[in-house]
Amino acid sequence: MLEDKFGRQFHYLRMSITDVCNFSCDYCLPNGYQRDTKKSFLTVPELNTLAKAFAGLGTSKIRITGGEPSLRKDLTEIIALCASTDGIKHVAMTTNAYRLEKDVQRWFDAGLNSLNISIDSFDPHMFMSITGHDKLGSILRGIDKALSLGLKVKINAVLLRQYNGNEMSRFLKWIKDKPLTLRFIELMQTGDNLKFFKQNHISGEPIKRDLLEQGWGQVIRDKAAGPAEEFNHPEYEGRIGLIMPYSKDFCASCNRLRISSVGKLHLCLFAEMGIDLRPYMQQADPAALQQALVELLSDKEATHYLKEGYTGATSHLAMLGG
Ligand code: SAM
Ligand code: SF4
Repeated sequence: MLEDKFGRQFHYLRMSITDVCNFSCDYCLPNGYQRDTKKSFLTVPELNTLAKAFAGLGTSKIRITGGEPSLRKDLTEIIALCASTDGIKHVAMTTNAYRLEKDVQRWFDAGLNSLNISIDSFDPHMFMSITGHDKLGSILRGIDKALSLGLKVKINAVLLRQYNGNEMSRFLKWIKDKPLTLRFIELMQTGDNLKFFKQNHISGEPIKRDLLEQGWGQVIRDKAAGPAEEFNHPEYEGRIGLIMPYSKDFCASCNRLRISSVGKLHLCLFAEMGIDLRPYMQQADPAALQQALVELLSDKEATHYLKEGYTGATSHLAMLGG
């Protein structure tokens, strides 16, 4: 098992397969995707070597992310390769769900186990204003389809003062009879969004207090489950999650490593730089890749410095997949 000098174990790989996105979320890519240089994203054989190397070091879960992963034409093949890698027990994907309604059956058949879907507002106009796309209806139908297939579904909503700051009752109503987890993510500062961050960041702490006052109970989770806090309520089928990266001890339960769509290892979402591991993938050499990973992990720091406004090499999260 990959373990760092602080005793944290890494059984979870976040694998970005593209940094291209068709949405223009105001906090992430407000001007849409800007192609700077022509990039070639990791190929299926390279991703295969990557998955094998991580699985051989104890990784049991892979999350496919982006940019928008469903923009890759070979996504189904990528899901299938992850699902068929020895040692990988769980294949997840984070998506804006643009193609969910059309493609979820194919993803499920290829071996996908769970989905995290980004919905920052349940008001179609607000959804459109945040993302630039009038797709909420199709996304909601896609979610019902995913649930009927038996996929585990989580919804990610970024807390945004000026956009969805007063939508709590709407969010709660929606999960009353939906067997899924709705997770509120505190907006994070990135290299590109300082002004937006200052105008829109809301802490999750008051939400946590309100939930506890309204009879929600905090679910005791395994330390290996990662940094989200979860809450349930006897009258609600759905759960609430809170992801509060600015809270004390957030990084103590870090269990994940990130590979960018061009093969760079990011030891933290806000690391100073990505470390190029693509040559090992190009040589189809999982053993050499494993050795490099074990050595590089000793440089992982105890925590990020987001509170101090340090965002590292991360200009926006589309470049790494969140
Ligand atoms: N395009 C896919 C999606 O939106 O689900 C996957 C990539 S996106 C970068 C992954 C997650 O990061 C999404 O849930 C998104 O809302 C979240 N995200 C993006 N920028 C963020 C920021 N500055 N702070 C907090 N969450 C952010
Ligand atoms: Fe695209 Fe996801 Fe970023 Fe929105 S949050 S712009 S969907 S990468």
